[in-house]
Amino acid sequence: MIGKVFLVGAGPGDPKLLTVRAHELVSRCDVLAHDELVPEAILAIAPRRAERIRVGRRARGVRHHDGRIHPLVIERALSGRDVVRLKGGDPMIFGRGGEEVEELRAAGVPFEVVPGITAALGAAASLAFPLTHRDLAHSVTLRTAHLADQAKTRGDTLVFYMGLASLASTTASLIAEGHAPSTPALVVSNATRKSQRHVLATLSTIARRAARLEAPAILFVGPAVSVAAIPAPSPVRLLRTA
Ligand code: SAH
Repeated sequence: MIGKVFLVGAGPGDPKLLTVRAHELVSRCDVLAHDELVPEAILAIAPRRAERIRVGRRARGVRHHDGRIHPLVIERALSGRDVVRLKGGDPMIFGRGGEEVEELRAAGVPFEVVPGITAALGAAASLAFPLTHRDLAHSVTLRTAHLADQAKTRGDTLVFYMGLASLASTTASLIAEGHAPSTPALVVSNATRKSQRHVLATLSTIARRAARLEAPAILFVGPAVSVAAIPAPSPVRLLRTA
């Protein structure tokens, strides 16, 4: 039987900022594959018998592997062991989690993504300043400062909170601003709850297609949305996610 890979966010560093799910997975893991960004205090939660694999790109003795998932992670999973792949912050924010998911899919290895508190949220909370503020900031942008990444800009993921009632005007404004009507757009309501629903469509169709969704809901717009794991023959369908 094939093992499962858990792509787990370790949060910004304080072990108390791990999610309950992350703590549970790390504390009973068999194989722990981690970045260098993850502090020892968190790694120490793993059982002593667990195999530890350092998979950071700077890890000594590990050949460069294009920033993709470490071959040992796939190998362990294919040999039937569950692997906790622990990444600093959130695995899908500048963590190459998307590339790892692609590879796991290609290898036919089942996986689960466990979100973590990303560095921006941890740092801002530690100094008690708001990333959004009714008077001072209506949006927040997470960007990489890597020159290599800036040189080949691949677009943004726009995320709109509190936008269900104004979906039609929001998407119309984005199209008027020059975003292609075919840009992937996704609304997720009640995310991570049992009642989660989502609709994947495009900027020009999402307002109509997502009309039946309920608040609280969040809108994502951008090319990265298209790799969402939507288990449907036709991507545009009202789905129960759980
Ligand atoms: N997936 C991670 C980010 C990986 S990129 C996340 O969601 O946080 C690595 C960068 O994250 C670092 O160069 C630094 O800019 C930032 N970072 C990660 N942990 C941090 C911390 N505890 N304090 C400040 N910045 C941090």
